[in-house]
Amino acid sequence: MVSNIKISRISVYQVTLPLEHPYRLSGGRLYFDKLDSTIVAIDTDEGIRGWGEGCPWGSTYLPAFAKGVRAGIEELAPQLLGLDPRRTDSIYRTMDIALPGHPYIKSALDMACWDILGKATGLPLCELFGGRLNQPIIIQNSVPTGTPEEMIESIARGQQKGYTIHTCKIGADVAKDIERIKAVSSYLSANESATFDVNRAWLVDEAMRVMNAVTDNIIYFEQPCETYEECLQVRRVTSHPIILDECIQRYGDIVRANADRACEAIGLKIGRVGGLTKAKRIRDFCVETGIRMNIEETGGSIIADTGAVHLAQATPETHLRATWLCHDMLTIDTATGGARNQGGKTYAPETPGLGVEPKLDVLGEAIAVYE
Ligand code: MG
Repeated sequence: MVSNIKISRISVYQVTLPLEHPYRLSGGRLYFDKLDSTIVAIDTDEGIRGWGEGCPWGSTYLPAFAKGVRAGIEELAPQLLGLDPRRTDSIYRTMDIALPGHPYIKSALDMACWDILGKATGLPLCELFGGRLNQPIIIQNSVPTGTPEEMIESIARGQQKGYTIHTCKIGADVAKDIERIKAVSSYLSANESATFDVNRAWLVDEAMRVMNAVTDNIIYFEQPCETYEECLQVRRVTSHPIILDECIQRYGDIVRANADRACEAIGLKIGRVGGLTKAKRIRDFCVETGIRMNIEETGGSIIADTGAVHLAQATPETHLRATWLCHDMLTIDTATGGARNQGGKTYAPETPGLGVEPKLDVLGEAIAVYE
């Protein structure tokens, strides 16, 4: 009989994360110079503390916003006090009953429970997600929309960090996008590759015009249009592989995408799908059905990034494209340890749980405590 451990306190911290370089995406219509992140600490009566982070990419990228995370935690935290945080599925059911939907606000709480499970069992999270695979995790460079020259400058900065996969944000007018794709493609060397991420900006006809104009190379195009149905229409008329990102929000979305043959790969963003518990289920489905994944966070600091890298570290290399380290784009660091860039590659930490130790002076005072 396993004796219970109980959640005794949930503390919430708000941290502003400045971006080193301002960032535009979706044809320039979405602009960001900082992110608003929520970091939670869950304490137990056994003295184990778990950490989690939830950080939407601003308020305009997804139907998610930072104040929503904190309002959601205010709803959910009282429901979790007294429960055993190691029972991650049970905790998740409690959250789904207390507050249906709103997946992104549950991610930080879910992550902190996984951190506690890892610390209680002495295992890094990747071991709990199926077992560590002995592979480096490729990091992709995130390149904001700009002129071809600005985008190449941003790629060059990434190359200096060792990055070989560059996710280039496009989605302005057709002629400019074709120009950007051609300039970037001819700049990259043979061991590098690019994804062109439209972040929903094109209508179907624009997608067809751009994608049919660049058929010399087979290129990954990500989330070309706003809706799933538009992306599916594009998928049916192009030979380029399609990555679905923003429109994969629930398990049912990937089941439908697989049935429709709507994509070859997805962006599996932990926060967007509701945290590590839900992301793991989608990961397992993709492994079974042959869908490649970028496993990464929506945004955030080293705490959030490291959770995603643990899931990637336990995902077969054959099904994994890359991860992305948002914290590498920030001017502050919220924790020691974690999954860092090592020449374009990263690895999940080997210490129990997430393997991060938050810096309390960076976090400041808790803005809310539930006990
Ligand atoms: Mg994307």
